[in-house]
Amino acid sequence: MTETNWAGNIAFGAGRLVAPSTIDDVQQLFAEASPGSVRPLGTRHSFSPIADTPGTLLSSSGFADANEIRISEDRASVSVPGGIRYGELARALEAEGLALANLASLPHISVAGAIATGTHGSGVANGSLATAVRAIEFVNGSGEIVTLRRGDPEFDGAVVSVGALGFTTRIELDIEPSYDIAQTVYRGLPLDALLESFDETVGLGYSVSLFTTWSDADTIDQLWLKRRVATDRPAPSEILGARPSTVAMHPLPDVDPVHCTEQFGAPGPWLDRLPHFQLEFTPSNGAELQSEYLVPRAVAADALREMHSLAPQIRELLLVNEIREIAADTLWLSGAFETDTVGIHFTWKPLQDAVDALLPRIEERLLPLGARPHWGKRFHADADTLAALYPRFDDFRALAAHHDPRGVLRNDFLRAKLAI
Ligand SMILES: Cc1cc2nc3c(=O)[nH]c(=O)nc-3n(C[C@H](O)[C@H](O)[C@H](O)COP(=O)(O)OP(=O)(O)OC[C@H]3O[C@@H](n4cnc5c(N)ncnc54)[C@H](O)[C@@H]3O)c2cc1C
Repeated sequence: MTETNWAGNIAFGAGRLVAPSTIDDVQQLFAEASPGSVRPLGTRHSFSPIADTPGTLLSSSGFADANEIRISEDRASVSVPGGIRYGELARALEAEGLALANLASLPHISVAGAIATGTHGSGVANGSLATAVRAIEFVNGSGEIVTLRRGDPEFDGAVVSVGALGFTTRIELDIEPSYDIAQTVYRGLPLDALLESFDETVGLGYSVSLFTTWSDADTIDQLWLKRRVATDRPAPSEILGARPSTVAMHPLPDVDPVHCTEQFGAPGPWLDRLPHFQLEFTPSNGAELQSEYLVPRAVAADALREMHSLAPQIRELLLVNEIREIAADTLWLSGAFETDTVGIHFTWKPLQDAVDALLPRIEERLLPLGARPHWGKRFHADADTLAALYPRFDDFRALAAHHDPRGVLRNDFLRAKLAI
């Protein structure tokens, strides 16, 4: 079997890919599995060997209820199968006049895979996608069905799980009435002015993303402002001298924006504005790699100054940097654990050796500021380094040992990054 991840940079070492159709099948598989022989697999959008195993990859696509969405009577939550993609879920919710608080930049990822890795969108008051989780059901490494609800002692450890506790079967998420977003793209934001008023600038709307290629190292190329039409202030006529674009923009220079979500302040439903790319289109062909560091927002300006000083090296390998905001949460392995953060994201050219060689230099600058690497993207730091960044690191390791005492789910990634 040769299966790869979405980007094609990881060829899974697994001997087989299994799509069980019932929870019983998953339980039996775990009960019979030997140590280090099973990994849950989502939609394969991670850039590291996080999901790899020499044994069996376990897909959620075969479940009998693989598309079953259950909206609660009070319309405040929805129960979904772990393998559902955000795009399908968003369409089903919107058809009912309902919404999620936030989405990542693309809708093609599974809910279980996204929450396991701390995947996020943007917005100073928006937590990562995992913060919408009210309850999680998984088959643990011993084959037992476990259900944890918000407030249960283990819950905060079990949501951002990096797939180390078991196979997530169902997830209950917070929802709210549907809402409209209007998106305006501004061009040419002077870096110095931004760093002097970082919090005010990224707080100008419900969700703000900054894009830059460092082609002019003193200017951030684009600011994407996504306002909640009913509650946010109108779009300003300029932001620190940056003016609204008069042409539709793609985050990458000189790329046709035809697949980007609508701009020019035209209101539209949340699911057609929060992602940068339209639901129907794959944002790119996979010819890229990604890394991201979640930096405390209080030191975002210092972190960006560090990146500015590395711009000549970064620029060589970079397609684009995206800077987003994630609100603090209480999830043990979240990049935003107890800290309002800013994600400094790198979309790299698909030059893995060169990218991997540069990452330690970036980490030398960012990790001392408290930056935590995104679990689903490429990074260099090992378990000793990460332990110092996550106050509940050892508690998570104990939780993993409790739910997977035989180490059925263990793989090289978990050994290297979590000492599991
Ligand atoms: C083009 C692109 C855009 C992206 N945009 C963003 C973005 O905007 N924001 C962001 O934060 N990240 C982003 N990412 C990263 C991505 O969201 C994460 O890598 C996420 O994990 C992908 O989900 P997946 O279903 O593909 O998971 P996979 O890569 O398949 O798996 C990731 C982890 O989740 C575990 N897992 C998967 N399914 C289950 C399950 N049922 N039970 C238990 N564990 C499970 C796996 O074991 C593995 O450890 C992007 C990636 C790509 C390729």
